[in-house]
Amino acid sequence: MVDLTRRFDVLVIGGGNAALCAAISARRAGASVLVLEGAPKFYRGGNTRHTRNMRCAHDAATEILTGPYTEEEFWKDLLLVTGGQTDEELARFMIHESKDILNWIVEQGVRWQPSLGGTLSLGRTNSFFLGGGRAMLNALYRTAEELGVDVLYDAEVIDLKIEDGMFLSAQLKQPVGGRTEVRASTLVAAAGGFEANIEWLKQYWGEAADNFLIRGTPYNRGAILKMLLAKGVQEIGDPTQCHAVAIDARAPKFDGGIITRHDSVVFGIVVNKHAERFYDEGEDIWPKRYAIWGRLVAAQPDQIAYIIFDSTVVTSFMPTLFPPIAGATIAELAGKLELDPAALEKTITDFNAAVQPGTFDHTMLDDCATQGITPPKTHWARRIDTPPYLAYPVRPGITFTYLGTRVNKQSRMLMKDGKPSANMFAAGEIMAGNVLGKGYAAGIGMTIGSVFGRVAGREAAKNARN
Ligand SMILES: Cc1cc2nc3c(=O)[nH]c(=O)nc-3n(C[C@H](O)[C@H](O)[C@H](O)COP(=O)(O)OP(=O)(O)OC[C@H]3O[C@@H](n4cnc5c(N)ncnc54)[C@H](O)[C@@H]3O)c2cc1C
Repeated sequence: MVDLTRRFDVLVIGGGNAALCAAISARRAGASVLVLEGAPKFYRGGNTRHTRNMRCAHDAATEILTGPYTEEEFWKDLLLVTGGQTDEELARFMIHESKDILNWIVEQGVRWQPSLGGTLSLGRTNSFFLGGGRAMLNALYRTAEELGVDVLYDAEVIDLKIEDGMFLSAQLKQPVGGRTEVRASTLVAAAGGFEANIEWLKQYWGEAADNFLIRGTPYNRGAILKMLLAKGVQEIGDPTQCHAVAIDARAPKFDGGIITRHDSVVFGIVVNKHAERFYDEGEDIWPKRYAIWGRLVAAQPDQIAYIIFDSTVVTSFMPTLFPPIAGATIAELAGKLELDPAALEKTITDFNAAVQPGTFDHTMLDDCATQGITPPKTHWARRIDTPPYLAYPVRPGITFTYLGTRVNKQSRMLMKDGKPSANMFAAGEIMAGNVLGKGYAAGIGMTIGSVFGRVAGREAAKNARN
């Protein structure tokens, strides 16, 4: 039974990777720590439950990483994917700290496994969690509890008392026990983005947001982020920027996870509901392009698209939860997809006619391209001519949003007047926009949570002692 009448040194709001790294780090620094996780125990851990790997810099190959990934290379990758929209000082700090995280996270009980194969080719840069994100979280919770961190589930924070940039208390709502005022000397906000709040998404995306599927937890509704911004914390990031991929249109509204993501785009073509292609499916290697397809589909009529391919490539990509829809002819496939058969036949005939001879190699930018059609397919273009013809319907799958709270290198929130908050820190998705102005490099969500979570916990503990 957690004694909620006492004043804790550090209050952590959230129950995912960032929250647990902060809680463990604060506890190891000698602080008393309470974690309030809004979800029930079974669903604890937010989007972290769905993760598989983390991107950390390292100077040499490890037992599970195939080669070095220097700080400079990590920085260049980040610069490329964000188009320079990142806080260089914070990003370089995160990258430097990520080197140490590879070992620190193991010291907290997490185990690595050899890299998974598949089209993302991450064996050199990203370390995979043994058993996936849920096993990773179980290890962190176990360690936190052994260290004496108090954890409450079904513990939604519905209000924050903040005066002049200083956190005073949080209002907690529980199904049993009702509302309670929780006091603490410092706050670590690690409560995720607002991706599960469709009404909030609609402010920027309009009615289209009704057709978005949320890949992760329904509990990241952005309530804490909204309160912090309303109470004087400086915001960072563009509210329309987010990580969004193409996921199966048959996936559930929330929590469909990794098994609904389609990695087959480069092996076929993608058409909208008018059976028209709308983007170069072979623009670049998949790890650099998978995260643009959510936005591309979001911009199509009714936010729906179809990946079309033929039987020759079925075993070339990771299978997903849902089987492809099949047709013996293109017309039959079109009928099953409720597309105009004549329009789909024309698109595929035109595409096939534009395919030039080349040597197919999906691991590099090969010379298989189209000529004379718009948009072109600049690599991996092969004729779609071997039945059965196959398709996956896809919708935008939102992973997480980038709008967040501004922080400094201590993970301390900055107020609108530019001054650091007296006792408020943030880590994870809720401050991802400091590093990710736009774009994404696989595995960086967990880097942001681990690095800034660890720092936030340590600094919050120090702050509480003073
Ligand atoms: C399908 C999928 C796969 C992914 N794969 C990867 C991957 O392999 N590698 C990678 O780096 N990233 C991946 N990501 C992104 C990654 O999940 C996030 O970047 C990361 O988990 C964020 O951690 P976090 O602790 O900030 O947020 P979360 O893990 O989402 O935790 C937020 C927590 O806040 C709680 N909360 C929210 N509001 C309240 C409230 N009012 N009161 C109390 N608690 C509240 C939630 O219940 C939740 O526990 C993936 C995401 C998804 C959806």
